[in-house]
Amino acid sequence: DIKIEKLNKFFGKHHVLVDVDLEIKSGETFSIIGPSGTGKSVLLKHIVKLETPDSGRILINGFPIFEGKPADPAQNYRYSMVFQSSALFNSLTVGENVGLWLREKRICKEQRIREIISSKLELVGLEGKQELRTAELSGGMKKRVAIARSLAMNPDLILYDEPTAELDPINTDELANTILQLKKSTKNTTVIVTHDLNFALYISDRIGMMHDGRVIEVGTPREIKSSQNPIVKRFIYTTTK
Ligand code: ATP
Ligand code: MG
Repeated sequence: DIKIEKLNKFFGKHHVLVDVDLEIKSGETFSIIGPSGTGKSVLLKHIVKLETPDSGRILINGFPIFEGKPADPAQNYRYSMVFQSSALFNSLTVGENVGLWLREKRICKEQRIREIISSKLELVGLEGKQELRTAELSGGMKKRVAIARSLAMNPDLILYDEPTAELDPINTDELANTILQLKKSTKNTTVIVTHDLNFALYISDRIGMMHDGRVIEVGTPREIKSSQNPIVKRFIYTTTK
């Protein structure tokens, strides 16, 4: 599991994360929602060590990730992030994009890499699409290729920053179903940052709402929908009306 304890982060005088406490259980799909500029992406970046806190700590499976010695099991904890832009190489085929990191790190033989590529593409509903040129794909397909590429490393934790940002409603719906499907076939912990409330309500086991750098409410989709916190109520009202 991931335990975030009293995390604080400043950018200059700007207090971007304020005493953030959060626990994300192993195997759960957890979404972080909230308006723009409230620190969702910054929080996500701390979990993957792209940012370091000014105070507080994050423990993954009990090991503090910012104080870790090389022998800590937390160092072997594998995580993979799906960026908003998908960050694919347009000059490569779908299969080459998915196999990129495996080939770069030379962690297995070419035959095995090909097997992994086709199995991961199957998981995201793109079976047999290895040879397609990435440049010719729709936004929704690109997103799924980016997910397959993340899955290729067999991560324990997969993180998404605004996965629906550039998708139309149909692609958003398909992505939601892909993520739900993945939850069944992999045992990943999944953390999703999104301001798409309906998407979060549909796919999450639990949701944390951020406001001005604080986590102000955590609960199941049902609990969030019936929250009496005025800020949560207002966010729900303005994003679903
Ligand atoms: P959005 O929904 O628009 O993506 P967000 O909740 O993800 O918003 P963050 O990207 O986490 O917001 O940013 C929170 C605040 O921290 C913003 O005011 C942002 O300008 C600021 N910020 C983020 N990264 C940096 C940085 N590297 N240097 C300085 N300020 C930063
Ligand atoms: Mg963001």
